[in-house]
Amino acid sequence: MSGIRRKVNPLSRAQIREYATALRALAHNQSDYMDVIALLEFVLPSNISNFEYDFIEKGKMKGNLGITIPDENKIYIREDVYDGACEGDGHHRMTIAHEIGHLLLHKGLPSSFARIDEDIKIPAYRCSEWQANCFGGELLIPSISVTESDNAYSLVKRFGVSMSAAEIQLRKK
Ligand SMILES: [Zn+2]
Repeated sequence: MSGIRRKVNPLSRAQIREYATALRALAHNQSDYMDVIALLEFVLPSNISNFEYDFIEKGKMKGNLGITIPDENKIYIREDVYDGACEGDGHHRMTIAHEIGHLLLHKGLPSSFARIDEDIKIPAYRCSEWQANCFGGELLIPSISVTESDNAYSLVKRFGVSMSAAEIQLRKK
């Protein structure tokens, strides 16, 4: 969630959903609630040989909640975000899911790729931030588990997400 928008290879929501489903399967997650800390501590290290993550004190993150370097298989999470996610805070859990999205989706970007200014329009499916947000939503709230009787409140409770994430995902089902 560095906020730097980059033009990347196009990915549809359906394609991103497949990545999220695959990761959920690797995690053997038995309940609706995806344990993102377990992903960082056990699942990613045991499936990506040189994966590393760390939590960094707030003052050293220059306003970033998380930073991911996909080609180095590294994720840095701001310490308070990590602590919040451990305690089940939906926003912080989503930040971690978002960063994992960057890790899995954005390897091998050409070195010439440039940071895109906020005022330049990129189609959503080619925007790195849209893709990582989409991944986060699909990882924490898999559409296959959302039923007709669900509403934003039930999603918040079952999946441990923020109200805004629940509302977005309900519209994307
Ligand atoms: Zn991001």
